[in-house]
Amino acid sequence: MADEKDDTRELMKTASGKRLTQILTEDYLNVHRKASEGAFVVWVAIVVPVELFKGFDNVVFAVPESHAALSAAKGVGMLQCEKAEHSGYSMDICSYARIDIGTMMSGGKDSPTFGLPRPHLLVSDNNNCSLLVKWFDIYHREWDVPHFILDVPFCYEMQKETDLRYIVTQFKDLIKTIETLSGQKFNIDQAKEALKNSSEAAKQYKRFIDCAVHRPSGITAFDSFVQMAPLLTSRGRPEVAEHFRLLADETEERIKNSQFPVPNEKYRLLWDSIAPWHQLRKMSTRLAGLDANIIAASYTSCLGGIEGSYEFIQEYREGDPLESLARIQNFSVCPYGMDLRFKAMSWAASHYGIDGFVFASNRSCKVYSVMQMDLQKWITEDLGIPSIMIDVDHADVRKYNEESAFLRIEALLESIDAGRARAKI
Ligand code: SF4
Repeated sequence: MADEKDDTRELMKTASGKRLTQILTEDYLNVHRKASEGAFVVWVAIVVPVELFKGFDNVVFAVPESHAALSAAKGVGMLQCEKAEHSGYSMDICSYARIDIGTMMSGGKDSPTFGLPRPHLLVSDNNNCSLLVKWFDIYHREWDVPHFILDVPFCYEMQKETDLRYIVTQFKDLIKTIETLSGQKFNIDQAKEALKNSSEAAKQYKRFIDCAVHRPSGITAFDSFVQMAPLLTSRGRPEVAEHFRLLADETEERIKNSQFPVPNEKYRLLWDSIAPWHQLRKMSTRLAGLDANIIAASYTSCLGGIEGSYEFIQEYREGDPLESLARIQNFSVCPYGMDLRFKAMSWAASHYGIDGFVFASNRSCKVYSVMQMDLQKWITEDLGIPSIMIDVDHADVRKYNEESAFLRIEALLESIDAGRARAKI
């Protein structure tokens, strides 16, 4: 039976959890307050470079995907999905979209943030998925709000110079569009400052997730899922960089004091998919009971990197911020071809000392899941690391069965044990 309740409560009790809650609360309150005072409101897809909006004095942004993830983690994902489904949206559509559409259709009712303020402009991109463009088009039609679509070329190899120029040209168009619609002037120095803050935040977040290299790991991937939120909703703020610096310091300190989330860690696993937002506490607790830890995830490891690399390259000090932002448009996993995904996963396997892979097939997110069977075969054959495939939707708890998932996870742990026993012979 579907079981859905607030899955973040335990994780938010730590000092860093409380600081995170404060940042996110401030951000959602701010966006509502500023919108009510007349700010120009933009709704964006997660990869859209929000640092550009910081170049304006009175432009605020909201991120429907993050709002949907928060709703799922807070236990209202299914409720919002059902509202969208009752209006005819298929259960096969991404659950983020259904949650957000359900929230919009009920005027923010049941949302942990009272929904999002109505936008003056929608900005989507097609580098994560084309579904997102269609999803934002619903609001475009419903509310007659302009929709700006960034067209980012898919990457089968490292980004080409021509692609970078093409993206920069679109950023310039986006800036002009906002100037025209809002009547405000863009200040590039403000955008540069925001980008420096974002760059520092990503660097410190990388320090935090690298605490997984230690044996036993200093973190679980579930901590990294919860902590990634401000990198999406609060980018550009100096407080976010400071939060991640403190978080990395605190985590390193806990390692020095031999405090580990899974002290008897026997199995170090890597998760390939979006976070299972409705299972954060349950899944991490049950895994810990098996001395297993999902220590890393492709979903969070890619932050701050570029296509095919999980290493931090995003450092921005000076130079054209538009170019720098264009260069990192393909940091997330979805727009990579197979070769780049394999390269990144192989690096992660050796960097974190991974014993087994958990591929989480997600019918909501076709782009993440579509290559997983081939990738799984490749990982097993080339790296010799055991893996399993489980079914789990990131935000719709109805498309997850805990017992069948754990049956496979336990089989994975047994095959890791069998491999270790063979190696001793
Ligand atoms: S389909 Fe996947 S990439 Fe697209 S919005 Fe949904 S979760 Fe994001």
